[in-house]
Amino acid sequence: MRMVVDLTRCQGYAQCVFLAPEVFELHGDEALLYDPTIPDDQLERVRQAAAACPVQAILVGEEASIGAR
Ligand code: SF4
Repeated sequence: MRMVVDLTRCQGYAQCVFLAPEVFELHGDEALLYDPTIPDDQLERVRQAAAACPVQAILVGEEASIGAR
């Protein structure tokens, strides 16, 4: 499963880092690093992170391909 994070929206709230620390990493105040290919065992965590992101910057699966266009 793929995902993208819209880094123009991301405000570095780090909700995603708390919910899926194996996928998201925050460097400094606003530099979010992530692996765009979600391991199967992390999918549920990433979905929770996407739901928790205050600015809906995380797009998963179908949304990711739409967002990447
Ligand atoms: S929860 Fe959203 S705003 Fe916060 S760091 Fe993650 S992607 Fe960015």
